[in-house]
Parts: sequence; structure tokens; C-alpha cells
Amino acid sequence: MSKLAVDGGRPVRARKDFLVFGAPQIGEEEIAGVVDSLRRRWIGTGPKVMEFERAFEAYKGASHAVAVNSCTAALHLSILSLGIGPGDEVITTPMTFCATVNAILHAGAKPVLADCDPVTYNLDPKQVARKITRKTRALLPVHFAGRPCDMRGLMRLAKTHRLRVVEDCAHALETEYHGRKAGTFGDLGCFSFYATKNLTTAEGGMVITSRKALADRIKRLALHGMTQDAWKRYSDSGYAHYDVVELGYKYNMTDLQAAIGLPQLARLEANWKRRAAIWARYQKAFADLPVDLPAEPLPYERHAYHLYTPLIRKGFHRSRDWILTALTAENIGVGVHYRALCDHPYYRRALGWKRRDFPIASDIGDRTVSLPLSPALSEGDVEDVITAFRKVMGR
Ligand SMILES: *Cc1c(COP(=O)(O)O)cnc(C)c1O
Repeated sequence: MSKLAVDGGRPVRARKDFLVFGAPQIGEEEIAGVVDSLRRRWIGTGPKVMEFERAFEAYKGASHAVAVNSCTAALHLSILSLGIGPGDEVITTPMTFCATVNAILHAGAKPVLADCDPVTYNLDPKQVARKITRKTRALLPVHFAGRPCDMRGLMRLAKTHRLRVVEDCAHALETEYHGRKAGTFGDLGCFSFYATKNLTTAEGGMVITSRKALADRIKRLALHGMTQDAWKRYSDSGYAHYDVVELGYKYNMTDLQAAIGLPQLARLEANWKRRAAIWARYQKAFADLPVDLPAEPLPYERHAYHLYTPLIRKGFHRSRDWILTALTAENIGVGVHYRALCDHPYYRRALGWKRRDFPIASDIGDRTVSLPLSPALSEGDVEDVITAFRKVMGR
């Protein structure tokens, strides 16, 4: 990496202060919680995972929450728990992380893409309707960047065609739609606690559902298909045999992870307010730039402000990739969320996906840039992002 900015001058930030994109906010409580688990020797799935699940249920107003080791696992088990597999189709969006479709493929089902809405970047019910066949079993909407999908439109389609709904809420912890929380519209809602997400456990995920039978099945599938939780097996209430009653996976969360998640959950709303304020600053600061700003949420939507993703305007004399390089040279970390899934060689080869079939997602994927949006950003950091982005956009 050059010490100079791409214009040959001094970068906005010093190289030693490179602003890492999506660096997690880790406080003393998280450190103390992990140390406590280590000292107690409960490092596997134990009381802190239970506590985290109950706290998550309370936060989301959900009847059941099951902790797992990633959102990918959460999605995979959600699809399996609904009995969806080979011969079945699941409709989702091309504007998402690869894990969304990989989970469908892992379950043995076929992912079918419907192009997204050009304003919200979310699954468009009109496009979804055109993709429904006799094989369609479920819809898998992703609340992109934390903005809720058109759940009225999607749930209406699901009802008419008797489809299951699994919500990918990896960006949508704090998201609400008409006063109802994301993850509670469908049969199941799946959350990610990856390092860059609004709440992190280093790696981790959660499934919520109102149906006890699905929660029980997911719990069992997450631990080898066994009938008993391992931590109950070794407790002082006496040894209990377990039975393996179906083929399961190794997807359980550990107490070390839950120890990080518990204090993060307590800070969620304060962090949301901070990100909302940074988002508002960016919207104002970039209003005169040749970019398409992210659309503001509607009055009945609560945006989780997970990602801030302006699009470089068509016809701008610099490419999106040039902007990414230039921002990095200013020592500002950036991301791309996402190149459209149809751009990846594996899916093109295995599923025959083509850019021309998803013109909206392809266009967004070509022009999008993610700027840092984290509660850990100081006022100075936010100023640097603004200065650097304006500079590389020629202002
Ligand atoms: C991060 C992410 C996932 C995967 O989450 P993991 O916890 O890393 O498995 C799935 N879907 C979307 C939209 C994501 O952003």
C-alpha cells in the first residue's frame, strides 16, 4: 500500500491510524465475561448460552430463540426444520451475502433469485411473484443493510401460494416494520453475530420462531441430532443417557461466545442511536456529490443502519473500483455489499445465473461502496470519512 494518496498528496488519515472497516466495539464487560467463563471452566454450551437465548427472546419479543455458531448455520437448520430439501425451490435475492444461497444449497434445495427493488435493494414482491412455480416451497427475504423488506407484499404472496418464510436478519437486529420486529414475520428469523455485525460474539448466530416444534428441532439438529443438551448431561442432577434420533450437525454456540454477546445486547439501542446519527451526518455531507444516496426509511419502517452504501452515479469519470482504491489510500477502510450473486463463477457454473437476468442487482453491485458505520467511530473518524469520500469524489 502506498504512503501517498492516489493524487500523490498526503492522505486524509495517517497510515498508522488506518480506519478498519467494521472493527467490532469490545468493552470491558465482554472481556470480563469471557474471563469469568474461562475461570469457571464452562467454555462449551452452558448457562451463558441459555441466558443469552432468554435475553434475545426478550429483546425480540420472540417465543423461542436458539443460539448457533453462525447465521449460515441458522439459515441451514431453518430450511431443514421446515422439511425443505431436494426437489424444492426457495426464492431469494441476488443482493445478499453468499451464505444466504449457500444455506439453501446445503439443505439440498434449489435457490431461485428474484431481482431486487432499485430503491430499497430488497426483494421485490412483483419480481418474486414471477418466479413462483409448483416447486416453490419458501421465500427467503434479506433485510438489506437493515432496511425492512416489503413484508406485507411478501407475506401476502406466501399466504396465497402456501409458502414458508425464513427471514435473513443478519443486518436487521433492530429493524421494525409497521411496529413489528424483523424476524417475527416469517416462520423463522435468522441473525448473525459475525465480527462486523451490529452485535458480535466473534462468530455466532440465532434463530427465532413462535413455533416450539421448530425450535426443538433446530436445537436437536445443532447438536448431532441428540435428545439431550450436553451441558445437562454433565450437570449435578445425575447422568442421563442421550439418544441420537436423527442426523444432526455441530452448530452449537459456546459460553465464551455468549459471554461476549450478553453485554453487546445490553448496548444495542445506544449503539443504534449512534449509528443513526452518523448515517444522518453522511446523508447531509454527501448530498451534493455525484452519488445515489441510500434511500431514507419510510415512516413505518425502522432501519437498523447496519451498512451505509451510496452508489457511484452512472457516468462519473472514475470507476467504483478506483474509488475503493482511492479511499484505501486515504487510509479509510471500505467494503462492497455486495457484488450481485450472479457475478460469482460458482453460481454461474452450477446454477446458470446471468447478469442480464438480474439487471437491478447487477447495477447496484457494480456501483456500491460501503463506508464505515460503526458506533465505535469517534467524531474525528466520521469527519475523516466525510473528508476522504468528498476528496476522492472530486470535491
Ligand atoms: C453475514 C451474513 C450472513 C452470514 O452470517 P454468518 O454469521 O457469518 O454465517 C448471512 N446473510 C447475510 C445477509 C449476511 O450479511
